[in-house]
Amino acid sequence: MISRRALLSSIALLPLSLCAVAVAQSRDKRASASQDRRYTKAVREVTAKIQIDRARWKYMICHHSAMKEGNAATYDKQHRKRRMENGLAYHFVIGNGVDSGEGHIEVGQRWVRQIKGGHVKSDALNEVGIGICLVGNFEVAAPSARQIDALCELIDYLRAAVGKHLKLQSHAEAHPGHTACPGKYFPLKRLHARYG
Ligand SMILES: [Zn+2]
Repeated sequence: MISRRALLSSIALLPLSLCAVAVAQSRDKRASASQDRRYTKAVREVTAKIQIDRARWKYMICHHSAMKEGNAATYDKQHRKRRMENGLAYHFVIGNGVDSGEGHIEVGQRWVRQIKGGHVKSDALNEVGIGICLVGNFEVAAPSARQIDALCELIDYLRAAVGKHLKLQSHAEAHPGHTACPGKYFPLKRLHARYG
């Protein structure tokens, strides 16, 4: 049986240990918050090593993947099966936390190699449009706040690195009447209000 004294001292220690846990948790939260402001860290690192073809790019074209699962590697496989010799049709893929981190931006080989996308039907538009795909089906549910934060940070970065002339378009705006992409829950109005 536990003595009264031992019991009292263990109770006295309890708030301290809980406090230590709370401090550790708030430290973790602060650390992850500062990482959250760095969605484009990998994009910047990759882009610093290549020569951007500034004269080429005119648009940033937003897509959804129309499915909950997937990441740059799985879409790359799917696109190669569809006989796209350069694989992944997009330049960037923004994860939703299922098969890549929520808001994690993956850089496609088409960006690394500064070659045209394969994300819209028009070849002329693929030549000048940077393809950005957010993982998810936004006909069913909205993208997460982190995905949109990551997208905004990417757009800000691209406009700084490529040029302010870059225009934002959705896939449906690029091809009216052909697709619902990136879905009715994609916050297009909000993004146009911010970026024109
Ligand atoms: Zn699309």
